[in-house]
Amino acid sequence: MGKINIFDNPQKYREEILQLKNLINPQVNTINGKSLICAFLTAYCGVGCPFCFFKSPNPKIKENDIENKFNKEAVEKFIKFANDANVGYLQISGGGEPFLEKEALLKCIEKIQADRIILVTSGSWAFNKKNAEKYLEEINQAIANRKTRSRVSIRLSVSNGHGIRLKEHPLINLLNLFEEKYRDNKNFTLQLKTFDGDNTLAEYMNKYFAGYKMQKIGKNKSDDKNIIKIMPWKYKITLPSGYEVITGKTRFFDPSLKPDLNNTQSIQNTVEVFDEDLEESQSDFPAIVYNSNGTRGLDWIVEYNGNVCTWQNRVQDNLLNIYEDDYNKVYNKTLQDPLTLSFIEKGAKYRENIINEVSPRTTTLMKAVSVRDYAGTLLFEDEKTRLYYSLRVLQDYMSESRVNVEILKKLSQEVQFGLSLSKEELSTQYFNGKHSLLDQELAKEQSDIRFNDFLELADLGHYDLDKIELERARKHAKIIQGVGFEQEINQDRRLTQRVMTIKKFDWFIGNQSQREKIIHLIRHGETNYNVDGRLKGQNENIKTYFTERGLSQINDLSNKLKEFRAERIYASDLERAIQTALMANRNLNLPISFHKALRGFNMGKFQNDGMLIADFVKLPEIQAAFRNHDVEIPEGESINQLINRIIQFITKACHTTSYENLAVVTHGAAISNINAEISNQPYQDVNYCKLRYFKDNIEVLDYETTRTK
Ligand code: SF4
Repeated sequence: MGKINIFDNPQKYREEILQLKNLINPQVNTINGKSLICAFLTAYCGVGCPFCFFKSPNPKIKENDIENKFNKEAVEKFIKFANDANVGYLQISGGGEPFLEKEALLKCIEKIQADRIILVTSGSWAFNKKNAEKYLEEINQAIANRKTRSRVSIRLSVSNGHGIRLKEHPLINLLNLFEEKYRDNKNFTLQLKTFDGDNTLAEYMNKYFAGYKMQKIGKNKSDDKNIIKIMPWKYKITLPSGYEVITGKTRFFDPSLKPDLNNTQSIQNTVEVFDEDLEESQSDFPAIVYNSNGTRGLDWIVEYNGNVCTWQNRVQDNLLNIYEDDYNKVYNKTLQDPLTLSFIEKGAKYRENIINEVSPRTTTLMKAVSVRDYAGTLLFEDEKTRLYYSLRVLQDYMSESRVNVEILKKLSQEVQFGLSLSKEELSTQYFNGKHSLLDQELAKEQSDIRFNDFLELADLGHYDLDKIELERARKHAKIIQGVGFEQEINQDRRLTQRVMTIKKFDWFIGNQSQREKIIHLIRHGETNYNVDGRLKGQNENIKTYFTERGLSQINDLSNKLKEFRAERIYASDLERAIQTALMANRNLNLPISFHKALRGFNMGKFQNDGMLIADFVKLPEIQAAFRNHDVEIPEGESINQLINRIIQFITKACHTTSYENLAVVTHGAAISNINAEISNQPYQDVNYCKLRYFKDNIEVLDYETTRTK
């Protein structure tokens, strides 16, 4: 056990924990009151407020754009989810302007059995009075069609930002229409919302509704007597006709996905507001709603891509989604994961304190970004933190005797060992773990602009990367310059996408393990070391260069990738493989990513000084490793470890990508050993091998021996 540090490969162990059902006995049966749901129907908006948390893009017409808005199926599933969740308070809100999805909005009003429905809007649809009138009639009709009574309010946001495009028009139109037509309708009302210290609302009111009165009602401890949450201050605006409108004022804070953590002054106010709001309006338990009848319920958020979680509790490796998970499954999987269960039961401070044991920077980042919806995702971006937090939580549950001991035994010895460590010992393991956030980043599909975003955030102090890792990241950014395979979108939106992890549905990309894939294993271009017959292995301190032949091989590779109809490139993250892949891809612009798992043979202590291969193969340790493929080279790996690492990578890629024709740029010994192993042929040097994957079975279709063909 002593040798294995679970933080070398944290996600492997975190997944073990995620697989277990009934590991913890949850005590959420006391949280069984009506729930709150905040739903975003669309990412699109187009109003363009400078402070927009979600960087909502302009509306686009795209068929079945399920990454950015509910489709018809999502609307039906959401209605069922909300009713099964016993929703008492439904807020349909943005990112994005919900009124752009009017049909979905009307259906939700008609079919969701909430006592209270709030429709948050910029009012872009009410810019024109006739249009506003029509929308209001349709909403009123949807309210009339309901089977149960509900009070529905349109909550219009009025602020300097919204005023940039929409000016006073929605405010005037909606105030006039409600005053004229709905002033006595208790089930359909208008509310206003603005920021404390923003004078836009007062300016418009003075100019267009002279004689109006605004009276502070007090701290908004319950919203219309239903829930104790939402807005800190409540006002009442009274028009000269006596018509009254409730107005909420929230504290102004400055959310940003690029806060500068190196400048503590610049983030101080935002961090303070985050802390105060957490305590005041959420009692430190954001995932719970306090109903005014004394019960507690869960507070859910459903995003336009269908992702659903309890508020501030989304975690990248346990994504749940209304397209494929019904309420019971979402509920059970939320309670099954110690990470999400503990946030519901033990609250935000508890989570923060544990994460602070290993990464205080991450909790500061969450507060400085200050977009509450992204809190969980920001805290758990690093796989190491996910595992550390899960283990610490499990330890606490064990000390409360709430862990099922029989189920706990199903965890591997390594995890059990981790659980037996003291807090100090576990954090030491965390800091000694070899897992690198940079490698985690490199494993994603990359373009140079996305990697530069990562680097920019790293420079702003967002990640626990040491100087060596930062240097490695900078070097990588230089190497991949010009890898732009995607359509350009602005950085704000890219950063939003970065934190809004989207669940990839099996049904959306197809059941990949059931589909045939072709994999081309390709050796990097020839280097001077290959010609000299010297070992380089995984040693990046030795500098090598491509020979003329190597450059011409890379040139040919570019044509071959076209010929193969390759759709996606995976490459080893060693420089000669990165360069080969990038140069071959220069005019193709295929999606590309770089992976540690695709590195060449790790020859341990023998790869340090450019040893001649002829001498290397005569060494007794190497002879032993060649005879028995389970024998590890000192400080390196065995041949079977090399083969398994690459085959596992390929299998995982085949499961998760919808591309069917994959190019994998790797190293000679890796390709040759895989070819020999799978085809059951004697070993020979191979520089290209074509594989076919189908239902987790891999076979060799073709190969070329090294530099002879
Ligand atoms: S109206 Fe709302 S969603 Fe639209 S840009 Fe402004 S803040 Fe963003």
